[in-house]
Amino acid sequence: MTDHRLGSDARPLRVAVVGSGPSGFYAADFVQRQDDLVVQVDMFDRLPTPFGLVRGGVAPDHPTIKSVTRVYDKIAAHPEFRFYGNIEIGRDLTHEDLRAYYHAVIYAVGARTDRRLGIPKEYLPGAHSATDFVGWYNAHPDYRSMTFDFSGARAVVVGNGNVAMDVARILLVPIEDLHRTDIAEHALEALAHSQIREVTVLGRRGPAEAAFTTKELRELGELSDCDVIVAPADLEFEHHGDEYAKAVQGNLDVLREFSERKPTGASRRIVLRFLRSPVEIVGEDRVRGLVLAENELVPTDSGALRARMTGITEVMDADLVFRAIGYQGMPVFGLPFDSARAVIPNERGRVVDPATGEPVPAEYVVGWIKRGPTGIIGTNKPDSRETVEALLEDFRTGAFDDHDVPARSVLERLLGERRADFVSYDDWQLIDMLEQERGREAGERPRVKFSQVEEMLATLAENKRRDTDDVPTLER
Ligand code: NAP
Repeated sequence: MTDHRLGSDARPLRVAVVGSGPSGFYAADFVQRQDDLVVQVDMFDRLPTPFGLVRGGVAPDHPTIKSVTRVYDKIAAHPEFRFYGNIEIGRDLTHEDLRAYYHAVIYAVGARTDRRLGIPKEYLPGAHSATDFVGWYNAHPDYRSMTFDFSGARAVVVGNGNVAMDVARILLVPIEDLHRTDIAEHALEALAHSQIREVTVLGRRGPAEAAFTTKELRELGELSDCDVIVAPADLEFEHHGDEYAKAVQGNLDVLREFSERKPTGASRRIVLRFLRSPVEIVGEDRVRGLVLAENELVPTDSGALRARMTGITEVMDADLVFRAIGYQGMPVFGLPFDSARAVIPNERGRVVDPATGEPVPAEYVVGWIKRGPTGIIGTNKPDSRETVEALLEDFRTGAFDDHDVPARSVLERLLGERRADFVSYDDWQLIDMLEQERGREAGERPRVKFSQVEEMLATLAENKRRDTDDVPTLER
């Protein structure tokens, strides 16, 4: 007799994962690993390419971090996994469609925008968000048409996280080193003419409160033809609380080593400054400088230290300003949103309706839209595991609406009717192969990325047409 239980061959448990970054892939993996359940995972991404910030965020000179995609290839190789690239929820499929076509939906949509400084003239030409710059140099289609003026000598990066480290480094890496990376062609071209010679990184708190990690900090000191400047006085501060955690101590050791370095007369320099906040951007038609406020640290009720302005200010010259003060989640239509934390309210990954305090049935979140924009790629593994455990618990305790959902073929027909041209994982692997081929042609580059959606779709269409044309026709 045929088994008709949900999760059987006849009625697979159908799960949609919205977003194909690390948290989405780990969630897909945990769902797929159930020996006693037949599960079909459909992963959606609005771009034709998968991998989220691994492709669009990780710095081009960090290839080892990017190699994690080999793990995602294995997850995608599961026979019941499908990738639907170039499909945007809200445009090609609605939230209601997902509810109707799946037993459960996992949102892995990340944090799509960035925090604002909220200071006068924040949007003057020459003042940018780091997320724009990062997306641009990583060939993300959304940022393809951005322009950055590198004709001035001085750039300032506001923020003390790893994104600030990435931005400072990419601005000063010798162009011949960038040539060996998968940085976007347009960025390589623009940075080849860059006149930036000095990058100042501003921390609003002190060296012991910085968010960057020691490895990333150390890399600043390894750039060729670049001096790193840290004022020794910045490291003479009162020790608050107990011993520093290992990571903080690691940062302090590296900063101390930087502060002891003698300038070598290198053509470029990175200056790390602490306890400084920008309060205004200076300039009329474009950025000319910044007004900086000096800060002091004051303990909060929770025991943490916050920056408080002392009232002393200074003006510093600058031609470019990047705010690298954190990403920010955006609401997803049809789901509740906690605007104070910029996350979808949830309990262990179960979306929770703040009005009732009750879970929203069969809707889940993972990654940055669940916990906020913190942590490294690996942080998403336990995070996604927790959500999938909640999902499976709901499934096994009958908290799921056991409704019949249409088969995958019906979904694909619907997409066809809506003229939503989806990109499969095989298609993506073709794009991947072509990008690598372009890299070899350009000489020793890991890949030359496509940076426009139309270009990717046209290339796919062209290659598919060629494949069809190559099929020998039978003589009649
Ligand atoms: P982040 O680690 O949260 O750092 C944000 C920084 O901005 C902090 O120093 C914060 O200072 C500062 N900040 C926030 N608001 C500010 C304001 N109004 N004025 C001045 N400074 C302000 O964020 P992120 O650098 O965007 O990185 C996001 C996540 O991705 C992190 O977990 C990071 O480690 C990860 N990441 C990892 C890598 C890597 O592994 N290589 C690379 C890039 C990103 P306070 O501490 O005072 O709030």
